[in-house]
Amino acid sequence: MIQQELRIYNSISKEKEVFNPITPGAVGMYVCGPTVYSNVHMGNCRTFLSFDMVFRYLRHLGYKVRYVRNITDAGHLENDADSGEDRIAKKARIEQLEPMEIVQRYTVDFHQIMAKFNALPPSIEPTATGHIIEQQRIVQEILDKGYAYEKNGSVYFDVMKFNEDQEYGKLSGRKLEDMIANTRELAAQSEKKNPQDFALWKKAEPEHIMRWPSPWSDGFPGWHLECTAMSTKYLGDKFDIHGGGMDLKFPHHECEIAQAEASSGISPVNYWMHANMLTLNGKKMAKSTGNNILPEELFSGNNNILSKAFAPTVAKFFMYQAHYRSILDFSNDALIASEKGYLRLMEAYGMIDSLKPGSTSDFDVAAWRQSCYDAMNDDFNSPILIAHLFDATKIVHAVAEGNQSMTADDIATLKQTMHDFMFDVLGLEAVGNAGDDSDTLDKTVGLLIELRNQARANKDFATSDSIRDQLAEAGVQLKDSKDGTTYTLK
Ligand code: AMP
Ligand code: ZN
Repeated sequence: MIQQELRIYNSISKEKEVFNPITPGAVGMYVCGPTVYSNVHMGNCRTFLSFDMVFRYLRHLGYKVRYVRNITDAGHLENDADSGEDRIAKKARIEQLEPMEIVQRYTVDFHQIMAKFNALPPSIEPTATGHIIEQQRIVQEILDKGYAYEKNGSVYFDVMKFNEDQEYGKLSGRKLEDMIANTRELAAQSEKKNPQDFALWKKAEPEHIMRWPSPWSDGFPGWHLECTAMSTKYLGDKFDIHGGGMDLKFPHHECEIAQAEASSGISPVNYWMHANMLTLNGKKMAKSTGNNILPEELFSGNNNILSKAFAPTVAKFFMYQAHYRSILDFSNDALIASEKGYLRLMEAYGMIDSLKPGSTSDFDVAAWRQSCYDAMNDDFNSPILIAHLFDATKIVHAVAEGNQSMTADDIATLKQTMHDFMFDVLGLEAVGNAGDDSDTLDKTVGLLIELRNQARANKDFATSDSIRDQLAEAGVQLKDSKDGTTYTLK
């Protein structure tokens, strides 16, 4: 284990707290996964990549992490928890597909996108449809404890009753009295005793395709239940970290707490973590409004927002230049700036091996290395970490130019630290190894460099210069050195 004092901002206490896992050396972490009825957009990716960084840093420190991220394949309902149509079923009906075909298509897509971003797969990736029995068991437990009631084959969580014994709203800071005062829903229009109640089990209408038999009706689970069932099944009644996007805090995570406390009597999570939203034109990226950009549109450049294509690793670097709890606006200018910074970092890293060691060091590498840890220890502050990595690029250039000196040992520590944080913790990749598109780019540019070399060997400088200039116009900058020609993207 690397001994560091990690502090995590806990959404429930609204404070940064020292991280102490329940079992020393081991971490149980649950993150709400995607609803697989359409492609994930860049906003969803930001949240998943925020937690990839958390997972990677915990592993880097030496924790044995069991990271559970579910696949929501039973579909949330259209409106709120209790009314409307199951989104997967709706998509299946429109596209005339079996619901599980939809689920399979978008699960595969999600995995491919996460792999392009070099995100590590979770340790367990359970599905909601694979845990219907576990969900039904929790419904029964809550009924037995008197915190739920059955109506016409559906089962609802009794928020009022729960709130008499325990507090509903502790995560979101909402008070039940205020919620009641602000509600406009007429009780008479609903099967629910109270508009704040939410479905644990819904009876399926005849046309509803995804349905399972149960003691109450042929139906399907309410959308908050799967995460309670799967998190506690794989991580225990009480576990270390639960994460998700900020928009899931209420009602989803609030209801998860209520369900767990009502069934097992135990508050399930020690550290609640919420990642903030990626916005586009100042508005939250969302599937429903169409205000979003898909990862593939970003990688191919095929979109109306950006002037060029960006490698997945550059997009990830862009996201990590903001803290995960800050809102981040997606824009062409910001991505171009991030790409420049990313290339600067990679270039400096590539220069380290050719630095000439000196007999003394002008740079306190050990203090710098600790400052990289300090940044991550401060609630995973990746923008500060990246600022420290940029400091390292300056010293690399200074040593290369002979303006500063570093010993061989310090150069080795610098390289190892940059490697640890750039590749292990942030999971960046060198361009040229950043997915299918850049592999093709590598080969194509390699071929053009070869042709240019042949032209130069034949003293056909008109052709060799033309290749260089045209590549530059297309955004590919060639760099000649005694070891050959390399390229960077402008
Ligand atoms: P969903 O598939 O809608 O359940 O969303 C999957 C994850 O993406 C959840 O953790 C959401 O909170 C998160 N999410 C949705 N929209 C955004 C956004 N614009 N920015 C960041 N995260 C988001
Ligand atoms: Zn969830």
